[in-house]
Amino acid sequence: MRIFVPREANPDEARVPLIPATVQKLLALGAELQIEQGLGQSLFIADEVYEQTGAMIVSDRRQALAEADVVLRLNKPELEDIALLKRGAVHASLLDPFRNLELVTALAAAQVSALCMELIPRTTYAQKMDALSSQASLAGYAAVILAAERIDKALPMMTTPAGTIAPARVFIVGVGVAGLQAIATAKRLGARVEAYDTRPVVEEQVASLGAKFVKIDVGETGQTEQGYAKALTEEQLELQRQAMARFCANADIVITTAQLFGRPAPRIITAEMVAGMRPGSVIVDLAASTGGNVTGSQPDEEVIVGGVRIIGLSNLPGHVARDASQMYASNIANLIEHVWDKEAKAVALNLEDEIVSGSLLTHQGEIREPMIKELTERTEAS
Ligand code: NAD
Repeated sequence: MRIFVPREANPDEARVPLIPATVQKLLALGAELQIEQGLGQSLFIADEVYEQTGAMIVSDRRQALAEADVVLRLNKPELEDIALLKRGAVHASLLDPFRNLELVTALAAAQVSALCMELIPRTTYAQKMDALSSQASLAGYAAVILAAERIDKALPMMTTPAGTIAPARVFIVGVGVAGLQAIATAKRLGARVEAYDTRPVVEEQVASLGAKFVKIDVGETGQTEQGYAKALTEEQLELQRQAMARFCANADIVITTAQLFGRPAPRIITAEMVAGMRPGSVIVDLAASTGGNVTGSQPDEEVIVGGVRIIGLSNLPGHVARDASQMYASNIANLIEHVWDKEAKAVALNLEDEIVSGSLLTHQGEIREPMIKELTERTEAS
């Protein structure tokens, strides 16, 4: 069975889906592995390095796409690439499916079996394939490093003959995978950290990292079976905003990471809250590309509003692209290993398997994820 890994379409993407260290894992399955010439260019990994590990370098990507049984990528494919794929080909990548319904429909229509990395179940066994978590963790780290670089003050307390510098105050909103790593990073840099999440279960995790959990009573909140936050009502969000204004005003750095599965991110930081912050302070909105937690944040831009710098860069894992690629390559190789039939030396998609069933977004012409299926049908009808 032939696996092909094309180059990323976006020239600004510094991450790659496969690194040389992971090639061996795929070859050990008995697969034939082709990679597109220049795959590792953004990380200064030469083709020869991949070649030495046993991968075959190909320059005709259209032909390679047309002949591949399995295609592995980091980000979603271009629509014209889907048309080239064989019927029944397996495609694995991040797809951002809720915001790319046309793409999902095209994958189904092309009879592609699309494994969607965002839909890997949040189970203990599947953790090694969970690219959302591996990338979110690095995004949390990178957000703090970026904020530390942009802010006009030092993060740790410093006692000097010229006086004492107070530690920076960092406020983290949303304590999932990214938020926890942001807390840990800010603490390591010596900041005073406060954090808030609607899921009360995270209070203990926040405390264990040496940060202070901010309690805001907004009534009934909760989480889904997969551990995702449930959406708050508009009244609850308003209560949350009122209580949070004080914490934002006191913070030098605010990092927001609040996401809702399959929905736009909740708008948490209002223009008034931004106006209440000290000029020179910094906000990093990790949700900028999914609707934004912060009023005024722009996807992939840094803007200054009333002296407050609002950073909305969406590809923060790309700031630590080498590590992010290593993690992603490991996630996707683990997924392929999981769906691989060792005797047949081929991918065998067992729909009874929880991981396959959860992540297989399109198969045999069908869209399998109910929420996405409904959304595509609604879009087609309108
Ligand atoms: P996420 O990216 O969906 O959201 C980030 C955080 O934002 C979450 O903690 C969420 O509760 C919070 N949030 C949502 N609305 C908010 C609001 N209005 N105000 C403040 N915070 C808000 O979350 P995630 O990082 O993907 O993690 C979700 C949960 O899943 C976590 O508990 C995580 O530990 C768990 N998880 C489990 C596994 C596993 O078991 N394999 C893997 C990954 C994550």
